[in-house]
Amino acid sequence: MRFMIFLFALLSSVAWAAPSSVAILQYHHIGDDTPRVTSVTAEELEAHFAWLKENNFTVLSLAEIQQRFENGKSVPEYTAAITIDDGWRNVYREGLEVFKKYNYPFTIFVNPKLMREASSQYMGWEQLRELQKYGAHIANHSNSHWHMTWRHQDETEQAWRERVLADVLDAQAEIDEQLGEQPRQFAYPYGEYDVALEEMLAEHGFIAFGQHSGPWTQHSPSTAIPRFPASAQYANLESLATKLKSLGLPLVSAEPKAMLVAPDEVTPSFRVEVTSIDDFNPNQMNCFAGGDVLQPQWEGNTFTVQLKKELPVGRSRVNCTVPSFSQQGRFYWYSHPFIRADQKGRWPD
Ligand SMILES: [Zn+2]
Repeated sequence: MRFMIFLFALLSSVAWAAPSSVAILQYHHIGDDTPRVTSVTAEELEAHFAWLKENNFTVLSLAEIQQRFENGKSVPEYTAAITIDDGWRNVYREGLEVFKKYNYPFTIFVNPKLMREASSQYMGWEQLRELQKYGAHIANHSNSHWHMTWRHQDETEQAWRERVLADVLDAQAEIDEQLGEQPRQFAYPYGEYDVALEEMLAEHGFIAFGQHSGPWTQHSPSTAIPRFPASAQYANLESLATKLKSLGLPLVSAEPKAMLVAPDEVTPSFRVEVTSIDDFNPNQMNCFAGGDVLQPQWEGNTFTVQLKKELPVGRSRVNCTVPSFSQQGRFYWYSHPFIRADQKGRWPD
């Protein structure tokens, strides 16, 4: 009997393993005199790093995680990655001591053209090289930090492609020239992408990171990898802890792939297929859209969420969570990003 129980436990434990999940933290400014909405203070950053250490998290570089996932390997049970967008000068000034103290790998996504044009606001190559000694990896955030999916008036699709591709490749050429050839990792300005942009980046060997939340798993689309914003109201460690421990759904597909909704679809729906629903009760999944809590409609391994309220103009995300059976206190987390444009096809930063 005891053997049977053992056998049953063994079989049920091999029957399902949650996907290896990495919470990527996303920062911008470090300081208390910078726009709060995109800032953490040096104290908050240090508190985050201390929390990772106290909770025995493994912090890996993006390249290391990519390599493991591409080779079908796992990451430790609690793994995080750290990313900082834009390369503001305050990251060096306020962050240096924290980076030195913890020596965690982290990635700074830079805009080389802006570094040249506004050198008083951005770190220079010397500072980036110095930070490399304390764990920094330097990657691509485009040259110009445009809303990359915006087409100029009367711009042909071909002209748009050439314009944005040059903006990415010129930035990469400068990074490689300054620092030696770096892995092709791209963070979308404002977290905005469309299918054409994703395809172009994939063709040129890039993986790419958004700003919708959720952990990175082997199942994540390689040109729409989620990250958890960790600035401002998201810096709170109580809510951040849940995200850092979250699990990624074993995605097969998520539709629509485009973030931008059509003008006549301002209450869109989205549809997600997963490989398995063995580790959670689909009826316990809740999706949060603005102030609404929405119940997804399940059919087999696929769920659909229909929004009720009109999306506001600009970027929105719908977050869905459901508790894991096998891992006490951990939630599966999926986020779907949308953009609604105004009548001119634009939206604010
Ligand atoms: Zn940015």
